[in-house]
Formats: sequence, C-alpha cells, structure tokens
Amino acid sequence: MNETASLRARAEIDLAALRANVRALRERAAGAQLMAVVKSDGYGHGAVPCARAARAAGATWLGTATPHEALALRAAGLDGRIMCWLWTPGGPWREAIEADIDVSVGGLWALREVVAAAGAAGRPARVQLKADTGLGRGGCQPADWSGLVTEALAAERAGRLKVTGLWSHFACADEPGHPSIAAQLAVYRDMVAYAEKEGVEPEVRHLANSPATLTIPEAHFDLVRTGIAMYGISPAPELGTSAELGLRPVMTLAAAVALVKDAPAGHGVSYGHHYTTPAETTLGLIPVGYADGVPRHASGSGPVLVGGKVRTVAGRVAMDQFVVDLEGDRPEAGAEAVLFGPGDRGEPTAQDWAEAAGTIAYEIVTRIGVRVPRVYV
Ligand code: PLP
Repeated sequence: MNETASLRARAEIDLAALRANVRALRERAAGAQLMAVVKSDGYGHGAVPCARAARAAGATWLGTATPHEALALRAAGLDGRIMCWLWTPGGPWREAIEADIDVSVGGLWALREVVAAAGAAGRPARVQLKADTGLGRGGCQPADWSGLVTEALAAERAGRLKVTGLWSHFACADEPGHPSIAAQLAVYRDMVAYAEKEGVEPEVRHLANSPATLTIPEAHFDLVRTGIAMYGISPAPELGTSAELGLRPVMTLAAAVALVKDAPAGHGVSYGHHYTTPAETTLGLIPVGYADGVPRHASGSGPVLVGGKVRTVAGRVAMDQFVVDLEGDRPEAGAEAVLFGPGDRGEPTAQDWAEAAGTIAYEIVTRIGVRVPRVYV
C-alpha cells in the first residue's frame, strides 16, 4: 500500500480554489498578464497540477527558479511561455533554450554562458534582463546596466538571443508605504527607459510579486508574478487575511490520529520532557513530524484541530510524530487531525502555524515533505 492510500497524512490540494485565486488576481491586475509562480514544487502544492490549473484559469506565463524546474514543466507537456530566473554556472542552458524557456540574465557571466549555449543549440536564446533596482540580491546594478544592455544587444544582432523581458523584484512590497517601493519603481522605470532607448524591444516588463499585485497597481506593468497569493495565502498578515483579500487557501494538511492512551498527571511527553501532563488525561499521537515539514520550532505551540477542538502540540515535534493533550477526550483511531486549511471548519491556517513557529506561511507550505502525498480535489 502506498502513502496515498494509507490514512497517515495527506495534503489536500484544492485546485478549484487555485483557479479562483488566479481569476481574482487577474482581476486585480486587469490589463496585465499573470505569471503563475510554481517554483519549489508549486510552493509545496505540486508544480505540474498547479501549473495546469493556473493555465486553465488564464495564467499566460509560468515562473520557476531553476531551469530544471522549468524543463520539468515542459517535459510534463506544459506549453506556452515559461521563465526561470535563478542563473547558476553550468546550468542546463542549452536544454532550456531548446525548450523555448525564457532565461534570466543579471550579469555578464550569465550572458556569456547563455550566448555560448545558444550557439551550441543553434537557435537564439530568449533572455530577460534582470535589474537590481534595490533588492540587493540577484540582478544587474544600475551602474553596470549599460554594459549589460550593450553586450546583450550585440548578441541579439548576432542572432544569439532575443531580449524578451526587462524585469526586477521588490524588497519590501509587503510593507505598504515602505520608502524602498517608490525608490525601486523609479530606478526600474529609468533602467527600462535606458534599455528601450538603446533599442531593446521587450515583450514584457515586470516587477510585481503577490503583495505588489495586491497593493501597488502602478507596479503591474505588462505582467505580474504571483506565487503565495495564488496558493490562497496572504503575503503578510498586515495586508489582511486570505478572506479579506478575496483568496482561498489551497492546501489542507491533515493526519489520522494513530493512538489514544491514558496518562497520569505528571507524565513527561516526547523528547526532553518539555511538556508534563498537568492532570490525569488522554494523549493523542499524530503521525507527522519535522521530516514531513511540521516545524520543530512549533513544539509546544503548533495548533491542531482534533475532535472539534483546537489543541496544541504537547512537547517536542519529533521526526515522524508529535503528541497532543486530548484532556480526557477519546477520538476514534483514525479520527482526523487537521493541522491547517482554509479555516472555515475551525481548523488553524498556515499563517497560524507560521506564527507558532516564528516564520512565514511561505515556509510552512513549501516545506511539507515529499513523504506526504498530495491529493488533488
Ligand atoms: N518573482 C520572483 C523573482 C520570486 O522569487 C518570487 C518568489 O519568491 C515571486 C515572484 C513570487 O513571490 P510571491 O510568492 O510573494 O508572489
């Protein structure tokens, strides 16, 4: 029996919710195209099914970090525009060019390697030039932009590439009013204007991630790149809950209660005995742990809906399991324990787990492990 058929745990993926989220985000960004960001296995939701659902709801682009992720989408039969943006030396650039995948270039190392790969492929690469407008991570600094644009245009004239996009990424889009937002917009406009004056004719100009799609209309340009919001999760609690933003969480993580047993008062629970039963009680074993992506930092704080009540992880989360104090309740073997979901059955949300673990909801869903079967509903 495989894990899908067993009752241990499952991540239910609501593709109808994902499609509705894509439609809602397209409305928000009316006039711009939408890129469905499906890197990191679709933020843990499954890249291929999510990419197909997003396409069905009108996403014209798919975005990944690595070229390998982009090639896997092509291999699964996804056609249309795909872009990958994490350039690393020695990547499968020739294969990406042959598969008609847009490749991001943020510096001369990358440009030269992609040009060489295009020569080997015998066809021009589709290249999107990445500007560092202030994130301070990947991309070309404003001071180096003219050199990159000049060399890219020379390669374009030589038939080695076509500059298909000019793009950048925000540092603080999830903090409305942060001064870096206006500053990045101004730098981006200048860098685009310079490249276009020099002769670049991009198909798409883009800057917005989910928070910018939701809150910074002037950043929409030709295309918005939405990840977390497409999966129904608010990019930051300050921007509102999923429901307030018109989004529905796509993933529900549930497990089956595997054991219920009596325990006397003063009973130490799990490694290190960080929880001791305050009174005679019942303990429930939930058979998922940090190897499944349940954060160990949520030991003693992670919330779980069992038997109609939200309980808290008792003691440490272990690799494959954790315990909840059921306070005398006795759910049947196999009763459902819901770690997180949309929240409308009273279950916690991924955001609740993020707060319990001192992290962001992005990390909660992205880290759900490969051992947990994704069940598409
Ligand atoms: N664009 C780029 C370059 C990214 O790296 C990401 C994700 O981190 C996104 C867009 C999507 O961001 P979000 O999930 O906030 O929509």
